[in-house]
Amino acid sequence: MKSLGLLREEVLEANLELVRRGLVLYTFGNASGISRDEGLIVIKPSGVPYEKMKPEHLVVTDLQGKVVEGNLRASSDLPTHVALYNGFPHIGGVVHTHSGYATAWAQARREIPCFGTTHADYFHGAVPVTEPMPADEIEGEYELNTGAAIVRAFRGKDPRALPGVLVANHGPFVWGPTVTTAAHNAVVLESLARMALFTTTLNHEAQPISSALHNRHYLRKHGSNAYYGQAGEKK
Ligand SMILES: [Zn+2]
Repeated sequence: MKSLGLLREEVLEANLELVRRGLVLYTFGNASGISRDEGLIVIKPSGVPYEKMKPEHLVVTDLQGKVVEGNLRASSDLPTHVALYNGFPHIGGVVHTHSGYATAWAQARREIPCFGTTHADYFHGAVPVTEPMPADEIEGEYELNTGAAIVRAFRGKDPRALPGVLVANHGPFVWGPTVTTAAHNAVVLESLARMALFTTTLNHEAQPISSALHNRHYLRKHGSNAYYGQAGEKK
């Protein structure tokens, strides 16, 4: 079982990785991880500058979002993270940013089609976009309802095969089996969003890649016969 101390370090490191990769401005971003064994979530505190953030500043909550450790307030997006951990029982980490290219697609309320193999390596299909939220959901428990809108967008979809979403008029939420993978997926999503924008600019009629090429790339990394990387390497 992974100790909570180790999870705190991984969550801090994932938050810093988002800054290093240019995905967050100021403190606009947050990463969290979960210990499923203990039913505890570790999340970034609200408004603490990244350069001053230490593992002990992170906030620990239960799966209802109730703080069980920490003196600081949790990221205001905590209820969205909680909704995702409850809605998607296989995920171990969640990342949210307003990274520019992915957010541009979210603001355009357009899913990102799979135009190439880089995308196909990570997402088994287009990156989905949520439905716009009605006023009563925005005026009510907004962050929790944002999570509910994401879970609704995944009806009939597998969140393990599509590790991220564009929240309409807002930005990306990305996840993975660990918070480290979630941060990596967020960096890749930003790159896919950038390439997809250039692709559609260069060719307004650009078509998604064939399902044969898409499946070949996705399944060589993720299928039961995956062969990408070294044997035994964590994918
Ligand atoms: Zn946001």
